[in-house]
Amino acid sequence: MKSPAEMSAQIRSLLRGAGFDLVGIAAAVSPTGYDRLLDWVTAGHAADMDWVQRRLSAYQHPDGVMPGTKSVIMAGMNYFQGPDESAGTGAAATDRAEGDVRVARYAWGSVDYHDLLKARLKPVAASIRHEMPEARTRIVVDTAPLLERDFARVAGIGWFGKNTMLISRQMGSWFLLGAILTDAELQYDNAFEVDHCGTCTRCLDACPTQAFPEPGVLDARRCISYQTIENRFQPVPEGLREGHGNWLFGCDVCQDVCPWNRFAKHSAESGFQKRAELHGLDCLAILDLNEQDFQKLFGKTPLSRSGRAGLLRNAAIVLGNTGNQSAVISLKVALGDHEHLVRGAAAWALGRLGGPDAQQALLNQQLVETDATVRSEIENALGSLRVMT
Ligand code: SF4
Ligand code: SF4
Repeated sequence: MKSPAEMSAQIRSLLRGAGFDLVGIAAAVSPTGYDRLLDWVTAGHAADMDWVQRRLSAYQHPDGVMPGTKSVIMAGMNYFQGPDESAGTGAAATDRAEGDVRVARYAWGSVDYHDLLKARLKPVAASIRHEMPEARTRIVVDTAPLLERDFARVAGIGWFGKNTMLISRQMGSWFLLGAILTDAELQYDNAFEVDHCGTCTRCLDACPTQAFPEPGVLDARRCISYQTIENRFQPVPEGLREGHGNWLFGCDVCQDVCPWNRFAKHSAESGFQKRAELHGLDCLAILDLNEQDFQKLFGKTPLSRSGRAGLLRNAAIVLGNTGNQSAVISLKVALGDHEHLVRGAAAWALGRLGGPDAQQALLNQQLVETDATVRSEIENALGSLRVMT
């Protein structure tokens, strides 16, 4: 049987061969970030992510995911695809060309990254069990209660940036993490103890919705990623909508500005490259999608997570931010959508765009609207139109 050092060397080599750019191995201990997680949840920064709160105690130790875990093998895969042609040049949404709609990079690909990483980790886990027949393994990509970034830091992969992302000196932060837990003893890497952010505050300053109450702490309730992806059933708080700019799904601003990402290299992984339908993505076309079209277009992609209503809500907000009068026709149709989430966002966007058509549509809908939240959106939109005229 191989020694822990030999087995660890083999694991590292297999993971590199499987396409992982960053690899490290940590002992299974109580992560130092657990107390930070408790504080974060207590402060309400986890918003409605009740799966975090429900499984809080399981995050205390990898035993909560697989009893008897001794080693946590962390692997990072680069997904950087090169410059984003839809990023535009100006800071405000109105500076950008029509149709410049942005989607977070991790969701550009044709595959769900959970599936891709799991498929790459599987043969490595199988080889551990082959070499050490007594050993058990469990693969984790995102969905189990494991503080993956904490273990990646302890495994020597990088440090926590002020934007809460794990940053590698070699690659920046455009990478996705997967883990293999095992009850086998392995040889462990040294933890990454140095913070290379220094005096930089670019990510904190650039966040369009001021989602960092302090360096290294993210208030999910204010984060565009949370609001456009995880908040599937509630309106986006009004005070945040303008900050969404042209982000339709997710947000990469605090990574885009990070100087360490100038070291990012293009990913060789074809599954992460931008799908054809995301080039020139059009919010007007999105507003037209019925449930069947939505499933056909996005059903097997990360964009399905927000659901049709969530994505159409996001599209309406982007249109409200563009100031593009030609969106009024589509927003009028969206104001009659069967989902209240879509109607409410369309009302807000019409109030932003203004003009007699928008006003008439809002007045017509006011006569028939039964949902209290949408009624209030309509009243606010009409109020802002009155101020404009
Ligand atoms: Fe702010 Fe966007 Fe980063 Fe969220 S993802 S913290 S909204 S910059
Ligand atoms: Fe750290 Fe600056 Fe990067 Fe923020 S932008 S994570 S402060 S280096």
